Amino acid sequence: MNSKTSEVIKLLTKEYPDIKCLLDHETPFQLLVATILSAQTTDKKVNEITKDLFRDYPTLDDFLLLTREELEERIKQIGLYRNKSKHILLMCRQLKEQFGGEVPNTLEDLTSLAGVGRKTANVVLSNAFGVPAIAVDTHVFRVSNRIGIANAKNVLNTELQLQEAVDKSLWILTHRLLIFHGRRCCYARNPNCDECIIKEYCDYYKSAKP
Ligand code: SF4
Repeated sequence: MNSKTSEVIKLLTKEYPDIKCLLDHETPFQLLVATILSAQTTDKKVNEITKDLFRDYPTLDDFLLLTREELEERIKQIGLYRNKSKHILLMCRQLKEQFGGEVPNTLEDLTSLAGVGRKTANVVLSNAFGVPAIAVDTHVFRVSNRIGIANAKNVLNTELQLQEAVDKSLWILTHRLLIFHGRRCCYARNPNCDECIIKEYCDYYKSAKP
């Protein structure tokens, strides 16, 4: 790991000592459902919905009792709820029939499930199973490319470059730090560069300086 990457991680760790997964869940299954729900929706909104949903339907077997209409009714405040409802119920059947009712813990198996792309799989791997993974969401993509730890045009290449640049033992931490920094300082519009603790290491800041 080069000194720039190492310093950035050190400084962000100091800045965000409270980092954690922001989607409320108690089991890998609940995290999988919450992550599917979170596409193009805020974590806050998802947590509001899942609070009651997971109280009434805490397990896979409970979800298998839900009809599509019932689930749609439960999640209708969330964007794309019809598609998400369809995918979640299909995913539940796949879990039961192909994985013995357990959420699998490999990228390949997770991405074979309905509604589960690489990002969702990486979120579940890292947060539910502690498997080193870097899920590249909009924050991770923007912040890592601005800093210059990655220099990629798409999320897959960003993920691969981050895996190269960061020690594997720090992948989960780095993923969370980049998300927090994106939410709290390195905004998509008008990043707060003047207050940014890592500005001296940031390519975007250096190139934007008069
Ligand atoms: S200096 Fe600005 S662009 Fe760079 S990481 Fe900080 S907030 Fe983001």
